[in-house]
This record gives sequence, structure tokens and C-alpha cells, in this order.
Amino acid sequence: MRIDIVTIFPEYLAPLDVSLIGKAAAAGILDVRVHELRTWTHDRHNTVDDSPCGGGPGMVMKPEPWSEALTQIVPPGTEDGARLIVPTPSGRPFTQRIAEDLATASHLVFAPARYEGIDRRFIEAAAERMPVEELSIGDYVLAGGEVAVLVMVEAVGRLLPGVLGNAESAKDDSFGHSSDGGMAGLLEGPVYTKPASWDGREVPPVLLSGNHAVIARWRRDQALRRTSEMRPDLIAALDSAALDKKDRAQ
Ligand code: SAM
Repeated sequence: MRIDIVTIFPEYLAPLDVSLIGKAAAAGILDVRVHELRTWTHDRHNTVDDSPCGGGPGMVMKPEPWSEALTQIVPPGTEDGARLIVPTPSGRPFTQRIAEDLATASHLVFAPARYEGIDRRFIEAAAERMPVEELSIGDYVLAGGEVAVLVMVEAVGRLLPGVLGNAESAKDDSFGHSSDGGMAGLLEGPVYTKPASWDGREVPPVLLSGNHAVIARWRRDQALRRTSEMRPDLIAALDSAALDKKDRAQ
């Protein structure tokens, strides 16, 4: 997958060189390119913003540099498979399902803004060329979209074949699918490692029993309990076909 990120703070994206995503890039699974938006300005001050039409506080990012950047990164006629992602608190909430969907694209271009965001006309014009997703990573306002890009690239990148050491591990993650036989839309319950006894606290004996069916049932019960406590909305949204009789006893 190719990923292009246009920003006025390229250094903010340095963590993409580290850990899973850095390794995926080194292995050629991901081709990540970070671009400085000011490359596409033509005035002495490399201006990327101006005052908002209609007045009010703050500044708005000008459409011209964004448009030139997108045209150079995705030249007309090469839009097939490309998608533009615009992080914004006013966007659709970014979820695991959206990460899974984005993981099927061949080319993602991210447009993280600063100030009050990007002039609307850029987003409208881009949408005439390729699918545009305006996505929010949560109900709070960040100073800029770079952190949101890091969140989304990591969530999408770890789903690409060959990125996780053990492809099975994603199946047991929170927000899994019922068809995975994993947590089926639930949150993952508590996890433990060795030593079996630490600081007067014991690993639940069932996990040391070696009985895989009993362990799977215990994990499922813990996932149900945790989801009820932390995110009752997820339980309410579960397809009842995804629950079995033993789940209902919870
Ligand atoms: N005036 C905008 C509003 O109220 O919707 C907020 C602009 S914010 C200060 C600047 C930029 O940070 C946004 O354009 C977006 O790129 C990014 N940003 C801030 N919060 C975000 C969030 N929750 N999710 C995704 N991006 C966010």
C-alpha cells in the first residue's frame, strides 16, 4: 500500500519510522511518503493560510497548495484505487471497521490540517476525482491532524498482510468479527503472563489449566463482562445471533 501524507509539520510523522509501521515500510509492505505542504506555495512567505471569509477567529488553510499537492501526488488519470483522507473533528468517527475498509485500498493520501481546517472547496474538488473520507478520531479537538494520521496509519497498517508477526492475533482483538470466532464485536478481557504468582497476586488458575475449551469460554465471559462495564453500547449493538446461550447467562 502507498501512503502519502501532506503536512506543514513533516517532523510530526517521524514515529512512522518506528516499530511495526517502520518495519512494514522497511519490508516494502508500506510505501510511506511525507510531503511538506509549503512545497506547493509560490509566494516569498510560503503562505498556506488566510483569514476566514465572513470573519471570526483563527485562520483557514488555502485551497491552492492542497490542490496542487494532490494533483502532483495523484496525477489526473491515476486516481484508480486512491482515496483522500481528511482528519477533522467534524468527520465520521474512525472505527475498526473503517480501518478494515481502508486496509483494502492501494493508495491513501492524508490531508492533516492545522488552524481552523482546509477551505471547503478543496475537499469538494477532490471528491470529484476520488473517494474522500472526512474522519474524526474522537470527540475532542486536537491542534492539528498529524496525530490523527498517526492513529489511522497504525490502525490500518497493522491489518495489512505480513505486518503483524502473528496474523491470528488481530482476530482476538477488541472489536473483532463474529465470523473470526474471536471477540465478535466485544472488548478484549484481561491478559496475563508469567510469573503465575506476582506480588501476592495470582494468574487466574483456569489460564494455567491447559484446557483450551474452558480457557476460550473464560475469555469470552471476561470479554462480555468488560464490554458491559466499559461499553454497554457495544453489547446493545451486538447482533443477537452473535451471542450464544452461555453468553446470555452472563
Ligand atoms: N475548527 C475545527 C472544528 O471545530 O471542527 C477544528 C480545527 S483543529 C484546531 C485543526 C485540525 O486538527 C483539524 O482541521 C484536523 O485536521 C485536526 N483535528 C483536530 N481534532 C481532530 C479529531 N478529533 N480528529 C481528527 N482530526 C482532528
